[in-house]
Amino acid sequence: MTHRSLCSLSLRQRGEGWGEGPLVRGRLSRFWRPLTLALSRHAGRGDLLCAVVALSGLLTFPASAAPFDYGLHAQKIADGVHVFEGRTEHFTRDNGGDIVNTGYIETAAGALVIDTGPSRRYGEQMRAAIESATGKPVAQVLITHAHPDHFLGNQAYAADAITALPVTRQTIQALGEDLAANLYRMVGGWMEGTEARVPARDAQPGALVIGGRSLKLLALRGHTDADLAVYDEKTRTLFAGDLVFFQRAPTTPNADLGAWLEALDQLDRLDFAVLVPGHGPVVKDHAAIVQTRAYLKWLRASLQDATRRGLDLNEAMAQVKVPPEFAKLAVFRDEFQRSVVHLYPAMELETLRRAK
Ligand SMILES: [Zn+2]
Repeated sequence: MTHRSLCSLSLRQRGEGWGEGPLVRGRLSRFWRPLTLALSRHAGRGDLLCAVVALSGLLTFPASAAPFDYGLHAQKIADGVHVFEGRTEHFTRDNGGDIVNTGYIETAAGALVIDTGPSRRYGEQMRAAIESATGKPVAQVLITHAHPDHFLGNQAYAADAITALPVTRQTIQALGEDLAANLYRMVGGWMEGTEARVPARDAQPGALVIGGRSLKLLALRGHTDADLAVYDEKTRTLFAGDLVFFQRAPTTPNADLGAWLEALDQLDRLDFAVLVPGHGPVVKDHAAIVQTRAYLKWLRASLQDATRRGLDLNEAMAQVKVPPEFAKLAVFRDEFQRSVVHLYPAMELETLRRAK
């Protein structure tokens, strides 16, 4: 074995031995590639280079690769309104579950936080970023619905600082730990120390004034059994939660498509200037509602048609024709297949019931 390969091996082992998951390994490989090239140009001085490389790794690696750092950076979308925009991806060990939009609204009493993200670490890093930016402790937290990427950061706050619709609170109480365990399976160490903290307060639909800022809470359903939307009167910003997706295929594990479409109609009637979808880019028009509605209508109609043609679940998955505007949505194929699994059995039963 040459000096170079020995050196490579020792560094590679050290990087993985720190056990900080794929993010760190990804950063190590980005760090490591130029050094490997440098080594190849100076193979005759292996000992010296090996020592330099090892020293560089010791000096720079821990500082540049803080383990499980989400690198959260809020984007200002309106006066006093900020969003942490997640990636339009599935949960992975690379993204740590940062696939969701969270945000906050500044008030004189401190920030009103909307959703806390997928893990304790995310919630704590988000809170630190907000309090650093605003110079005040967070005033209150609203949770839009009981999906794990939206509420598993709750541990960053006391339970009585967190408000959600009653059904959302009940669902987190009943299923929160299972949802956390499942997410742990998908994103790994990012979830360390994460437990489901149940919001202690019930959200009341209607007006909410915090620190002089007037908001409106809308209690809807359809994406789940309870979906909270938040409207900021001053900037006409609408946080739609997962009732609205944009440029990313909607998820449907707990969906009631009819109720969801009715909720979209309600949101569409609001006089908003900016809309924050649960996943996907922020928009300044109704395009995200139009897209989500069109997708759900297509999904419902094509699956109903497949049941009437007598197709089984696998045949439906394979034979439904997908319009190009939906095929190009982020994570479309996986979400479509999951939706067929979620929705098709009940639709088959409904078609059989009507035929009798
Ligand atoms: Zn959701």
